[in-house]
Amino acid sequence: MFLVDEWIGIDTLNSLPGFEEFDKDILEAVLEEAGKFCSTEVLPINRDGDEHGAIFVDGAVTTPPGFKAAYQKFIENGWTSIDADPAHGGQGLPKLVSYLIDEMLGATNLAFKLYAELSHGVYHLLATHASEEIRAVYLPKLVEGVWSGTMCLTEPHCGTDLGLLTTKASPNDDGSYAISGTKIFITSGDHDLTENILHLVIARIDGAPDGSRGISLFLVPKFLLNKDSSPGERNNVNTASIEHKMGIKGSATCVLNFDNAKGYLIGEKNRGLAAMFRMMNLERITIGFQGLGFAEIASQNALVYATERLQSKAPAPRPNAGKPADPIIFQPEIKRKLLAMRAQIEGGRALAVFTACQSDVAEKSTNEQQREEAANILALLTPVVKSFLSDLGVSSTLSAQQVLGGHGYVREHGMEQMVRDSRITQIYEGTNEIQAADLVLRKLSGKTGQFADSLFERWQQMLDEQEDADDMSPFAQAASAALARLREATAWIRAADGAAARGAAFDYQRLFALTSIACLWTQIIASIRGKDGEFYATKRKTARFYMDQVLPETVALHEIVMRGSDSLTAFSVEDFGQ
Ligand SMILES: Cc1cc2nc3c(=O)[nH]c(=O)nc-3n(C[C@H](O)[C@H](O)[C@H](O)COP(=O)(O)OP(=O)(O)OC[C@H]3O[C@@H](n4cnc5c(N)ncnc54)[C@H](O)[C@@H]3O)c2cc1C
Repeated sequence: MFLVDEWIGIDTLNSLPGFEEFDKDILEAVLEEAGKFCSTEVLPINRDGDEHGAIFVDGAVTTPPGFKAAYQKFIENGWTSIDADPAHGGQGLPKLVSYLIDEMLGATNLAFKLYAELSHGVYHLLATHASEEIRAVYLPKLVEGVWSGTMCLTEPHCGTDLGLLTTKASPNDDGSYAISGTKIFITSGDHDLTENILHLVIARIDGAPDGSRGISLFLVPKFLLNKDSSPGERNNVNTASIEHKMGIKGSATCVLNFDNAKGYLIGEKNRGLAAMFRMMNLERITIGFQGLGFAEIASQNALVYATERLQSKAPAPRPNAGKPADPIIFQPEIKRKLLAMRAQIEGGRALAVFTACQSDVAEKSTNEQQREEAANILALLTPVVKSFLSDLGVSSTLSAQQVLGGHGYVREHGMEQMVRDSRITQIYEGTNEIQAADLVLRKLSGKTGQFADSLFERWQQMLDEQEDADDMSPFAQAASAALARLREATAWIRAADGAAARGAAFDYQRLFALTSIACLWTQIIASIRGKDGEFYATKRKTARFYMDQVLPETVALHEIVMRGSDSLTAFSVEDFGQ
């Protein structure tokens, strides 16, 4: 509420066409209800989901105990329709609201969330790229939540490099296509929660070019539709097995066999990957919010534990003077862990909210220049949000587990499940290495690269203005120094050859994220200048810790990037054998 209402400003959203009715009360009511639903319906089935897992028997998947009842309530309460178009039965709220709910769902039960998550992406992809006929039949069912969706990209020999795919599409006489091939790792590829499952499948039409330029996109429903659009005959899509995984065990990750399954072309032939990116980009932001959710719930639990656990004597002045032990939160190292999480979570949430807001402006603004700017900032920051926040999810669950000591390692407190469940966010939807490659190889050049420079310039001006004010200068100076490092590293990356840029990409991406967050923290602190009260005072202290104790990591990251890749190149692949 603070970020949207006091920092971004509700008017940024309700000045956009279609959101005129959106206001603070609506936002507050939706977030309160989402919080309640997640705490009372979604969190309580998280542990069972992990213990029972999704089960595969006789070619069909059964979801863990409680998932069916919770999903029913989930759709009855309208959680599948938040940002969908009212024309399809949606609530027409900003995407930002949907993303904020993603954080809570990701925090409380990612395995459950995933059954509805891909439906959201499928909805937006079909709304953008499908024919009017397909939109009219399929979209209202996705919005209602009675049909769900999947994204079928990965094959056994092709994960990151989708150009290697072998799934084939042959034209049928009736204008549809016969799809044949095997897809693996398909989230919610089969389950018992909805009446139909809509698979979005990428495949190569007979005779299409090799590589990613020959990929087309198809809608392949589990059940073909009767004349009245009700689910009818079973399509030739079969679940061969489900994966046994490290975490999110309640989520069914399926191997799907398509055997001349009937599919309908979505968008243009051979332009399937471009259409798929509509869904993948939404997902990448969502996964950032999933990571944020894990960081948030892990740090909340660690804070409670650290406040209650009595162990060792704290440095003077001791809170429990005269007693054998103090709460571990008074141990400076434990306090540091909790505060480091908090400073990155709050700053990271600002980055995520800022980025998510661009998706609403890019889609709805009536001002073309504003739309273009928002679309480019969104494109630039999407890999940063996905990677930084999923990394934060994993590092925070580990850190929180450490706060609980051995009690974090055993199952009782749920911490070890958080560690296992959060890990996938760094891997799926383009690994974090791929996000880094996307940032340095694509997003720093062309139009998006120009907008990166103007974003840096805009931040620099804001920091220069803030540096003059005594109470702001510590924040602005620290952020300004980091921004100078980022700009220098950006120039280095742009001048480097492909291999050197790729070698530096991962560290550059983190430098980018930590610096962006420092700029946003400064903006936030400037926006609350003169405001009194504990809440604002705590924000200032949190931001100060970020600048003092988190941001200095950018010094090392900058150094690593600027040293170049000579030592990496000098060590050959053959040298590993020595
Ligand atoms: C639980 C789960 C759910 C999933 N859900 C879905 C789903 O619903 N739909 C779907 O289609 N897929 C899904 N996936 C697949 C997932 O997106 C892929 O696993 C991921 O994209 C990586 O592909 P890969 O596993 O084949 O790894 P590979 O592509 O073999 O990569 C292996 C390693 O090499 C690195 N690497 C590869 N190429 C490069 C490069 N160019 N630059 C730098 N590093 C590189 C990767 O980062 C990684 O570290 C899911 C996977 C899991 C585990």
